[in-house]
Amino acid sequence: MSEFWSDVRQIASEVLAPFQGMARVGVKIIEPTTVLSYPEFRRPMGRRARWRHVLNRYDNGMEKCIGCSLCAGACPANAILVVAGENTDQDRKSPGERFAERYEINMLRCIYCGFCQESCPTGAIELKDIFELAEDSRKKLIYTKEMLLVPDPQLERID
Ligand code: SF4
Ligand code: SF4
Repeated sequence: MSEFWSDVRQIASEVLAPFQGMARVGVKIIEPTTVLSYPEFRRPMGRRARWRHVLNRYDNGMEKCIGCSLCAGACPANAILVVAGENTDQDRKSPGERFAERYEINMLRCIYCGFCQESCPTGAIELKDIFELAEDSRKKLIYTKEMLLVPDPQLERID
């Protein structure tokens, strides 16, 4: 007898399933929707959002990066290349003895872990909440120092 009722329940649930599905669709159709007019409106990112990197400068325009390669050493994805150059009194890019003559991040390898930012002794490398990273070629995802370095605030003031 209990087997009979179990079969009845099974058949009833299979017969009702399409109607339950249609009822769910009906509710979704009349439910108010939330549409954000992206890109004019961007949903605020979380405080700890980590996306595109930048290389910071001091207020006087000097580069914060001193070419120490600690970020490259900390990167688990081997995505960072740093080639250091020597500062001279005539041509000084950073307050330290050295600066990053070449700085590259392979964004195809990056896993956005933030270890580079954590390991940097000067706060030079920072992951910002800039998430629009799509490109149409792999080459454009090798970020160079020129792409990463923030504008010189001194030059901005002159403009
Ligand atoms: S966020 Fe992580 S994976 Fe990406 S460059 Fe920095 S250390 Fe490497
Ligand atoms: S970004 Fe920071 S850790 Fe990396 S080379 Fe520059 S100063 Fe060193």
